[in-house]
Parts: sequence; C-alpha cells; structure tokens
Amino acid sequence: MNRTIVLIVPTLLLAFMGCAKRPAELSISGPTMGTTYSVKVIEPPPGLDEAVIRHATEEVLAGIDLAMSSYRADSEVSRFNASASTQWFPVSADLARLVRAALEFSELSGGAFDVTLAPMVAAWGFGPAAQPVSLPQDADLDALRRRVGYRKLHVSMQPFALRKDVPDLEIDLNGIAPGYAVDLLSARLSSMGIGRHMIDIGGEVLAVGLNARGGPWRVAVERPVDAEPAPYAIVQLQDMAVTTSGEYRRYYERDGRRYSHTIDPRTGKPVAHALASVVVIGPTSMHTDAWATAFNVLGAQPGYDLAAQRQMPVMFIEWRDGRLHRRATPQFQAYLDWSEGES
Ligand code: AMP
Ligand code: MG
Repeated sequence: MNRTIVLIVPTLLLAFMGCAKRPAELSISGPTMGTTYSVKVIEPPPGLDEAVIRHATEEVLAGIDLAMSSYRADSEVSRFNASASTQWFPVSADLARLVRAALEFSELSGGAFDVTLAPMVAAWGFGPAAQPVSLPQDADLDALRRRVGYRKLHVSMQPFALRKDVPDLEIDLNGIAPGYAVDLLSARLSSMGIGRHMIDIGGEVLAVGLNARGGPWRVAVERPVDAEPAPYAIVQLQDMAVTTSGEYRRYYERDGRRYSHTIDPRTGKPVAHALASVVVIGPTSMHTDAWATAFNVLGAQPGYDLAAQRQMPVMFIEWRDGRLHRRATPQFQAYLDWSEGES
C-alpha cells in the first residue's frame, strides 16, 4: 500500500511539474508541392489555435504553388515558360525575388545551380514530364543547350519582371522553391507573434527561437539509404535552416543504372558520383535548398573545397568501399550534437 503511494506521488508530481515547465506546443502537417509539410509551434499567442495556424500556413503554401509550380499550367512560372516573347514579362514580387536569388546562387556556385535546366530535366523524365521512353542521346542534349543557361535569363526589380534571351527558355524552380516557401511561411508565423517554430517542407527545415525545452531545436539528419528512414546524425539549430539532400530518394533505374534528378549543367546529364547525401546549414531555407542542389552537382571533393573556402557549415556523406563516410567542414562540426535523447 505504502509502496503504491510512494510511487504514485512522485509520478503525479513529475506530471504536474512537466505541465508547468512545458509550454504549449502545437503541430500541424499536410500535403504540399508533391511532398509534405509539418509545422511545430511553441507557445502560440492566445487565440491562435490549430485552425488559425493551419489556415495561415495553407494560404502561404497555396500562394507559392500558384506562383512557382511548373506542375500547373496557370502558375506564373508556367505562363512565363509558355511565352515565346523576349520582352520583359511582368511577374509577382515573390517570383522576381526568387529568380534574382537563384541567379546569384548560379554565380556563387560557378554555374552548378541553374534554374534554366528545365528542358534537360524534362528530357531525363523528371519534373512534370513522365519518365522518358528512351534516354536522351548526346545530340539531343546538344540541341537543348541553345535553350539553357542562367545568363540567358534576366530579372527586373522595378517593375518586377523577367526576360529571356531565347524564346524557348524555360525555368524550373524545384531546386529552390520549397526552401523559399519555408522562409515565407516562417516570416508569416513570426508576423503573427509566433517567435518559436520549426518548419519542414520535404526535408527543408528551418528552426526559429527555442524548442519546448528552452534549448536549440534538435534536427535529425537521415541515413542516406533507401530503406526505412533512420537518423544518422543530429544537428542543433536556433534561427538556422538545414537541408539534407541526397540521391537515395529521387532517381529511377534503367538497365541497372541509376539516374538522379539532379542534372549537371556542364554535361546536361544526371550527376553520377559517390556522394550519398549532403547536409547544408545556413541562415535561410532558400540558401540551404539551393546550395544542397549545387553541392550535389559538384560532388564530395570539389563541393568540400568550395564549402571550406566559403566557410560554410556543410557535411558530405559518401559511399566508399561499401561504407558511408562523412566529411564535415569545421563550421558544420559546431552544430553536431552527439548526445542521446529526445529531439
Ligand atoms: P533538390 O531536390 O532541391 O536538389 O532539387 C532538385 C530539382 O531541381 C530537380 O528535380 C530539378 O527539377 C531541379 N534541378 C535539377 N538539377 C538542377 C540544377 N543543377 N540546378 C537547379 N535546379 C536543378
Ligand atoms: Mg535544392
């Protein structure tokens, strides 16, 4: 009898203390842009319940989809792609900002990131196009080259507009738009007074403020194999974004070869190297999304050299002799969390 009481009292006490210590936490999730989103919010201001946060989230995501999606014919991007005019084409402020940023990432990555690769992405059967009936030949890719190249795309910020040098240039923002969507959603939540939140759109994660336990958010980096998802490492983040991007999820197989959805602009072909995955930490989700795509193009060694030179927190995970090897820049090491426990 006594024993039961002894056991129950601390349990109740702990539960009570837990309630008192743990601030209110709210989570929502759903489908978006061909993937899923999840949003975790700590201590929402009074009156901001699940329905209000879900409504605001879905409004932001729907706006992005309407501007940036190449999967719907009525989006701004699809209308710009369909236009054969080489005159300025008016667009929304969001689209102009995103394309301007994309062109900057192209310059900084030495052309590894390129939003004008759309015809090549399609030729290899990714994006809105279905898997190709036959793989493109070198001559096909050479013919497409005339329509491709970020220097043939221009942005005006006043008024907001885009212009192409060649009538059949097309843009594909899939390598950067999910990250941008995370940033816009975070700005919206902050403007509602939600200073502590974590957003994940298809692997683009941004952690703002402190987590429920009053510390940095702990984000798991997935083990880059196509079996069941499992954590490989944990990073601790506060007001930072992380992208884990790898070829282990988005590819198809043909005659025993894997074809990645990341295209190397130098060859027009899917990247083929031993890089299993790359993890990029940075100030915005747009930044980490674009850089993760760029590092996937560059591969482990040239990618590491560029990240080290730019003092960026990046970790490369490579297959060598059938085993995973990781190589992180010194800036990345500072975010790694080796402790066990609840995230
Ligand atoms: P991510 O998963 O962020 O690396 O984005 C991959 C998507 O971006 C692909 O499905 C393509 O639509 C597009 N893409 C492929 N290669 C590149 C590249 N080198 N630069 C920019 N976007 C690319
Ligand atoms: Mg990306």
